[in-house]
Amino acid sequence: MTIEFSVSKRQLEMREAIRGLTKNVIRPQSLAWDRAHGVPEDFLRNFAQLATSMGSSAMRSGLGEEKGQQEKTGGNVGTIMASEEIAWGDAGLLLCLPGPGLGGPPVRGSGTDEQKERFFGIFKDMSGPLRWGAYGLTEPGAGSDVAGIRTSCRKDGDYWALSGRKCYITNGARASWTVIFATIDPALGRAGHRAFVVEKGTPGFSVGRIEEKMGLRASETAELVLEDCRVPAANLLGGEEKYQTKEGFMTAMKTFDNTRPIVAAMALGIGRAAFEYATDFVRSNYALQRHTPRYAAIAERLARIGRNLHAARMMTWRAAFMADQGMPNAKEASMSKAMGGQAAIRACIEAIEVCGAEGTIAKDHQLLEKWFRDIKVYDIFEGTGQIQRIVISKRIMTDLRAF
Ligand SMILES: Cc1cc2nc3c(=O)[nH]c(=O)nc-3n(C[C@H](O)[C@H](O)[C@H](O)COP(=O)(O)OP(=O)(O)OC[C@H]3O[C@@H](n4cnc5c(N)ncnc54)[C@H](O)[C@@H]3O)c2cc1C
Repeated sequence: MTIEFSVSKRQLEMREAIRGLTKNVIRPQSLAWDRAHGVPEDFLRNFAQLATSMGSSAMRSGLGEEKGQQEKTGGNVGTIMASEEIAWGDAGLLLCLPGPGLGGPPVRGSGTDEQKERFFGIFKDMSGPLRWGAYGLTEPGAGSDVAGIRTSCRKDGDYWALSGRKCYITNGARASWTVIFATIDPALGRAGHRAFVVEKGTPGFSVGRIEEKMGLRASETAELVLEDCRVPAANLLGGEEKYQTKEGFMTAMKTFDNTRPIVAAMALGIGRAAFEYATDFVRSNYALQRHTPRYAAIAERLARIGRNLHAARMMTWRAAFMADQGMPNAKEASMSKAMGGQAAIRACIEAIEVCGAEGTIAKDHQLLEKWFRDIKVYDIFEGTGQIQRIVISKRIMTDLRAF
């Protein structure tokens, strides 16, 4: 068995360039965006243009590349490297970058050529208004249990009529279109699923509540309401023939194989930020250094945080590398998400603990407090930690030889 993966010179250079930008431009504004519950559009526009010139797909929120694009954009590996760097500066920014966002992978993976042209075409003109895409799977009664969605779809001539509610949708209110998952009959489970691209302004499609979140406040999270919303049949992702099998559900799952390593990388960016903060605190705290036993224990603790973050990063890079090679990576994607989330959450909690009572004084350590709020969701969205562990254990039970 060969175990190998590599990152290219181009990808490393891209990471260095983004690292500098993140340190000098993003991190200094992170707290202000958190307080304002958003990033100014001017900044997003400039940043998106800069991203295009640097060729980074993460910064354009491309999420998964067409074959042949990888050399130029860095592919999935380039995306996760950039994602960690930007999240180190501000994780909320990554979620609000203009582009198809989480809606990109299902359109790219399951859309017809005509649909790809129509729905991705709107992102080409960077001089016009900023545009976003979104991904609407979660419902009030169906989060982890994706098969349990209740949003209904009924064919009516050249249209489909959709009714239901989607919740916690990133960029849902501002998106020009959202990939909405619905069912022709809940009793059919996954086989009954259909995916539609629903465009903003379609009668019967409206925005409900905008959530006030604990963390990632710069990112918009919205509820979407569909009331007998008539969607053109041409917007059924992939066309009717695609749904003779379980393809609708597979469309949702394929998205996760690409995006879970990206989410893991974002978590690692926040975890690394907290880890470096705590390390600096210990390094500059002379009183702590004089107390040798306590210092040694804390140094050992920092070493453990650092190596867990590093191990999770290697797993994440490999999951992305496999995606770039066209290798099945569902297990590795779930492992990276489960491990990245946990390592980063531990890093954020322990960074505060290492600083002692001082670490809980939000006035003096606002970033520590923000990272503590931001990180928890990384073990919840894109499949909770428990769900990742179920996916991993199922794979292990059926495919032991994969190790
Ligand atoms: C900031 C944010 C952004 C989001 N963006 C999007 C988006 O853009 N699009 C979208 O579609 N969704 C989005 N989501 C929703 C997210 O994907 C769901 O919250 C997530 O899938 C979990 O679903 P749930 O909240 O319904 O929790 P539940 O599924 O109700 O889970 C509750 C608890 O039960 C556990 N649990 C559930 N089932 C099992 C099981 N079988 N075994 C063991 N434990 C189990 C879970 O791990 C969890 O701890 C977003 C959420 C947040 C917070």
